[in-house]
Amino acid sequence: MTGTNLLDLDPAGLQAYFAAMGEKPFRATQVLRWIHQRGASDFEAMTDVAKSLRSKLALSARVEPPQVVGDSVSEDRTRKWLIKVDGANAVESVFIPETRRGTLCVSSQAGCVLDCAFCSTGKQGFNRNLTTAEIIGQLWIARRELGSGSQPGERIVTNVVMMGMGEPLLNLDNVIPALRLMLDDNAYGLSRRRVTVSTSGVVPGMDRLAEECPVALAVSLHASNDALRDQLVPVNRKYPIKELIAACNRYLDRAPRDFITFEYVMLEGVNDADANAHELVALSRRIKCKFNLIPFNPFPNSGFARSSAERIRRFAEILQRADLTVTTRKTRGEAIDAACGQLAGDVADRTRRTRIDIDVPVKEVRA
Ligand code: SAH
Ligand code: SF4
Repeated sequence: MTGTNLLDLDPAGLQAYFAAMGEKPFRATQVLRWIHQRGASDFEAMTDVAKSLRSKLALSARVEPPQVVGDSVSEDRTRKWLIKVDGANAVESVFIPETRRGTLCVSSQAGCVLDCAFCSTGKQGFNRNLTTAEIIGQLWIARRELGSGSQPGERIVTNVVMMGMGEPLLNLDNVIPALRLMLDDNAYGLSRRRVTVSTSGVVPGMDRLAEECPVALAVSLHASNDALRDQLVPVNRKYPIKELIAACNRYLDRAPRDFITFEYVMLEGVNDADANAHELVALSRRIKCKFNLIPFNPFPNSGFARSSAERIRRFAEILQRADLTVTTRKTRGEAIDAACGQLAGDVADRTRRTRIDIDVPVKEVRA
């Protein structure tokens, strides 16, 4: 297919595209709704758009979502799509249904340059940035596959987390237009508080996101001091904890929520001692934050092991005693090889078995 892929355009971009064709702004809004609210990809189906405009669009534009090359559902209804990038490369997007919400975990890059020590995406190296169409396409596909709910206005996907493969803040040129579509009332209409970007701490990207499209922010802290974080999250050598905290505080001036979520992967004997928890308590005095403890998801030759349930409980307790809010991500199901933050994505490598992550209050954690 040729022509401009309209999935690459955010609402303002679509307006500009229509203006350049000499069309009125409301035509762009109509088409935006057809594409993102009704999942249309064929201009002929857009029946309230003038026939002459439909023909014009068919010549100059297309609506081309990325190709789905794998689709699996686990017994707990968690669903994973494998999205073709190019050649044998693919990324994953995962839908996690819960009682009162449905969360889609979206990828932003094929691979990642940042090479965190415990991350299987990082171990694959970097392939390329996803386009806006490939990022928003994951939500477009989820809506197509899951439907939009049985009641008028009902949403199946209520939350989006940019916690799939890649570092979203290193691909903001494509991530920001996708976020704008997620938030736009004529597209997906999600609230800013229900769209979360997760970053390993790319400070300039945090400032740009705050400026251009503030949404909820999660920061992958994973260590309680610089010496340890330099090892686990190498981008810390460039933006150490002090700068990261300062950036978090700047972010909160613009953010839709009044706290930052710190993600902390629990690695046995590496970052899970009582002393680490006490360091986190000290650090938390400098920023309004909540903690999300993530039991490490092992993969072959990672060199790390998951902290025991008892260790995680004790670690959480120290934070809670200091009046911090702590959740621990519960692993549920092993059926479909899909853990946010530990996605493989390579079509050729489908042999690993991982787990699915859900956030639950820490007291519910079991071995
Ligand atoms: N690049 C971004 C977002 C993608 S990773 C970031 O790093 O924040 C989403 C989360 O999963 C991050 O907190 C990441 O550190 C974590 N993660 C990566 N590998 C993991 C593993 N093997 N087990 C548990 N969590 C992991
Ligand atoms: Fe990249 Fe995030 Fe994995 Fe680190 S944890 S390598 S930033 S995807």
